[in-house]
Amino acid sequence: MDVIIGLGSNQEYREMKPFEILNNAKKKMERRKIVLGTQSKVYISHPFSDTSGPKYSNSVLIATYAGKPHELLFELQQIEYELGRVRHERWGNRSCDLDILAIDDLILPNIIEFNHWVSIGLNEQIKISPTELIVPHPRIQDRGFVLKPLVSIFPNWKHPVFKKTASDLFNSLPDDQKVFDVELT
Ligand code: ATP
Ligand code: MG
Ligand code: MG
Repeated sequence: MDVIIGLGSNQEYREMKPFEILNNAKKKMERRKIVLGTQSKVYISHPFSDTSGPKYSNSVLIATYAGKPHELLFELQQIEYELGRVRHERWGNRSCDLDILAIDDLILPNIIEFNHWVSIGLNEQIKISPTELIVPHPRIQDRGFVLKPLVSIFPNWKHPVFKKTASDLFNSLPDDQKVFDVELT
């Protein structure tokens, strides 16, 4: 399978800074047979709810994986755990978040569930999170911190449901969600 993975961190773990955690997560992916292709730079943004909180580092990469979608999710969750991820509140601070953005042109588990998760409002999103794998990730189209790095490596990626490219989706965002610093590494 060709997969697109989004990486994020806004908390240190064992003296590793967010960008070191993202680099470490990539090494762990390779050990788990997730074969890395093109990788974006790391983009910095301010948290969505509390702009005074720690900044986020985000990147996106393309990879290939020979196993099944739920096996990929399992591997990524193991890596999150190894890198100190503890789930408190939804969208709380985290040392490592690894999200499956897309897998080939798959829609999982089906278009009805996908549309349900796309359509729920912010109030609900904060309270509930899916227990099963939803692909494409239902929030790609809302998030500059996903689309900016994605456009930088794969502008012509086509969303299998919305039939729009990554560039189209990014250009549709409000202007204040399009500006990022790039991590100097
Ligand atoms: P968001 O999903 O809005 O980015 P989050 O990444 O902070 O929020 P997590 O706590 O990492 O949310 O994941 C919540 C649940 O979402 C996990 O239990 C996972 O099984 C499920 N999930 C569903 N679809 C995906 C996906 N495409 N990628 C990663 N996790 C997913
Ligand atoms: Mg996430
Ligand atoms: Mg996640």
